[in-house]
Amino acid sequence: MELKYNLGIIGAGPAGYTAALHAAANGLSVIMFEKDKTGGVCLNKGCIPTKSIMHAAEIYEDLKCMQDFGINAGNITLDYKKIIEHKNEIVEKLRKSLELTIKNSGITTVNSEAKIIDKNHIQADKVVYELEKIIYAGGSTPRALKGINFDGNFILSSDDILKRETLPSNILIAGSGAIGTEWARIFAAFDTEVTVVEAAENLLPAADIEVSKRLERIFKAKKIKYYTNNSVAKISDKKVYLSGGEIIEPECVLVAAGRIPNHPQNIEGVTYLGDAAGEIQLAHFAVKQAVNEISNIKFDKTLVPSVVYGNPEIAWVGKREQDLGKGSYEKANILVSALGKAHCDNSTDGFIKILSRNKKIIGAHIVAKEASSLIQQIVIAMQNDITTEKLKEVCFAHPTYSEGIFECLFRLKAVN
Ligand SMILES: Cc1cc2nc3c(=O)[nH]c(=O)nc-3n(C[C@H](O)[C@H](O)[C@H](O)COP(=O)(O)OP(=O)(O)OC[C@H]3O[C@@H](n4cnc5c(N)ncnc54)[C@H](O)[C@@H]3O)c2cc1C
Repeated sequence: MELKYNLGIIGAGPAGYTAALHAAANGLSVIMFEKDKTGGVCLNKGCIPTKSIMHAAEIYEDLKCMQDFGINAGNITLDYKKIIEHKNEIVEKLRKSLELTIKNSGITTVNSEAKIIDKNHIQADKVVYELEKIIYAGGSTPRALKGINFDGNFILSSDDILKRETLPSNILIAGSGAIGTEWARIFAAFDTEVTVVEAAENLLPAADIEVSKRLERIFKAKKIKYYTNNSVAKISDKKVYLSGGEIIEPECVLVAAGRIPNHPQNIEGVTYLGDAAGEIQLAHFAVKQAVNEISNIKFDKTLVPSVVYGNPEIAWVGKREQDLGKGSYEKANILVSALGKAHCDNSTDGFIKILSRNKKIIGAHIVAKEASSLIQQIVIAMQNDITTEKLKEVCFAHPTYSEGIFECLFRLKAVN
């Protein structure tokens, strides 16, 4: 095997493999080190597996009210083990396809742990490789609660929960960020009793305040219990003691309290990308960073959309209303229940909210069935400085959720 390459990359997650593919396409010789599985957390333990299980949860929820739509189909039964097997098949299929793409791009891969020696050398399996440039894209690790370690049995990380082949009858989820909220919705759909404990004042604390408040309503409607301003103080004998005094006895605890960047050493001249860089821990951010690094295609870090999956989806970009001074912006809000498509889809919960200033959108917050796609329209408009007047000239198809965006444009009013 060659020992000299233009580029050496540690980590084959979205940041690492995107950098590798772009570098190879640009004619560089590339070697990529991965100690676990190609695709990183995103493909193997994150975005893809959770969304596969989420899809099953949504089908199950839909089936529960199918009679409203005139569909009768015997007894519905749930086989969670099969759902997990199906998830594994999807992950494997995608991983194989990614591995093939990497191979066909002429990238050399080494399946072992790698260590950076200095800005031009990486060691793996006792072999030292010489590189003109090194990228470290080693990702992140689930954060444990202070003083409470994961045990893989009762106290679970987001990695552990994916390995379970049975549904818990009840679960406590510590943290209501994207990961905690998505799992809360998955388990609630499968009729598991769910309790969410959030240390901050509001659920989904990174979101706009109206989104957090709407999520409270959604949780109530789905019978998800939640505590805010409260945290797990102690776990002992399978009892969870909350800081607010409550004692809960769940079958297991999922800790969804953020992720710690894997950033073993700071070596000058080495580039750190993705979760490891400790900025925004999202797969699409990792991808954009990598494309920027290798192909020099800039992107605006203030316009990275956030999405929380489930029914309805939640998505946002730009400024939150609570961060804006009164009199400095305009606002429009439309309920999803005003849209014909939402009724056809039996998904009338949610809203589309747009914030603007000087005829430019400065933020959008969407709770709606297709929020993950809707938000992209806003990102494109914001990125390209398209004014709200210009957007009014766009023809939005009917019946769609996008019509809600169109309607909002005409409702923008100053907030005093
Ligand atoms: C449950 C869950 C759901 C998520 N859902 C979403 C979502 O819906 N959308 C979204 O955008 N993001 C989501 N994320 C976040 C997303 O997975 C991460 O932001 C993304 O994977 C980061 O990519 P990365 O390339 O920086 O790191 P990773 O994907 O973590 O990849 C890093 C890789 O480096 C390898 N590595 C580390 N150290 C070494 C070493 N020394 N030698 C060799 N290899 C090494 C690791 O094994 C790993 O494979 C989710 C995360 C979780 C946990």
